[in-house]
Amino acid sequence: MSRPPKLNNDCFALPAGVHWTPVSEALHLLEQRLQCCVPVETCAVEASDGRVLAHAVVAARSHPPCPNSAVDGYAFSGGLEAGAQSFELRQGRSAAGEAFSGQLRPGQALRILTGAALPEGADTVVLQEDVEIEGGRLKVVGPLRAGANARAAGEDMKQGAEIFPAGHQLRPEDLGVMAAAGLGEVCVFKPLKVAVISTGAELRASGQAARVDQIFDANRPMLCALLRRWGMEVVDIGIVPDEAAAVRAALDQAAERADVIVTSGGASAGDEDHMSAVLHAGGGMALWRIAVKPGRPLALGVWGGVPVFGLPGNPVAAFVCTLIFARPALLQMAGAGFQMPKSLHLPAAFSKSKKAGRREYLRARLRDGAVEVFGSEGSGRVSGLSWSEGLVELPDAAAEILPGQTVCFLPYASFGLP
Ligand code: AMP
Ligand code: MG
Repeated sequence: MSRPPKLNNDCFALPAGVHWTPVSEALHLLEQRLQCCVPVETCAVEASDGRVLAHAVVAARSHPPCPNSAVDGYAFSGGLEAGAQSFELRQGRSAAGEAFSGQLRPGQALRILTGAALPEGADTVVLQEDVEIEGGRLKVVGPLRAGANARAAGEDMKQGAEIFPAGHQLRPEDLGVMAAAGLGEVCVFKPLKVAVISTGAELRASGQAARVDQIFDANRPMLCALLRRWGMEVVDIGIVPDEAAAVRAALDQAAERADVIVTSGGASAGDEDHMSAVLHAGGGMALWRIAVKPGRPLALGVWGGVPVFGLPGNPVAAFVCTLIFARPALLQMAGAGFQMPKSLHLPAAFSKSKKAGRREYLRARLRDGAVEVFGSEGSGRVSGLSWSEGLVELPDAAAEILPGQTVCFLPYASFGLP
């Protein structure tokens, strides 16, 4: 693939006949053209981590379900005025899971433990450290506001209130929240099935014997793991040689078994770029020359009615394109909506001069509050992927970055990755 044409100062004007699609336009088109394509099923809350909600979830009961105590102490009604006063101490106690069945009258207090239901006739709790007991009476010193150290029913979540919107991808903490809100099952989308294909005559699967002129397939293990992290179901089609018939057969098999196909390699327009050639011949193919580094071009096609993301073969480019383009698109298909990563604006710990005309992503990490970048921008340097903890996004326009200047850092966590 040739480099982007040199641009004059009119930085986004493109030479006639050459259209480099800006990243934002490419993302916009993907968002418009892809839709949720997975059916709905029910799932136990306990097994719902990573699943995407098909409907909004509402609290099945209030949390807490009844007023309870936030501390170990003594419950009574109405708070305390300033000064010393005392209460008749009732026999018994209220403990978590063992509510007191009686009712307190004014002037009475009851021993209560953290998490225990407030007895009827009580709305305030005084800390056990702040009392004295003498001759069956509880002696306290005010003031204490009415309602102190007590939690109101529903103060956290009210029965019937929405706690998560449709499309939310559930995290471990959400399982705790749903359980607390009394839910046993939720409606979720079935996981999106994504077929993964590596193409290239030079590729060998990891663990196989390889000649020096062969390389190991780095993309498939990486892409499959990314997709699983995002809650998708992987259909691993394997490695396909650079032969049109083999590529077609692999696409047929993938379209049969999956909702969407992700391929790497052969996506450009060279002699051995069979993925783009086959997709092209199949009719439903658009080669998007996206103004991005690393990564162009991204081949988008349709095979047997199933969308195909043809990623570049270079593992660094394949990784970046997957995070930037495939992830939001696949999440949209999975019912989770088109999700853009949340960026952090932080000082650079590097210098860099970039030309106008394409957006650039550098492997980066955060150290001492500043963003440092991997020593080499060479996209063949796969090791930089593991060195990095995120990407720096440099704008489409020309930029002169100096240490201390603010840059946009996209931590891998903002792509749903550790
Ligand atoms: P391609 O996009 O097929 O022209 O490949 C670009 C570069 O990435 C070439 O150096 C390929 O050998 C390499 N490459 C392609 N696919 C893979 C893969 N699955 N794992 C590692 N490197 C790859
Ligand atoms: Mg190739």
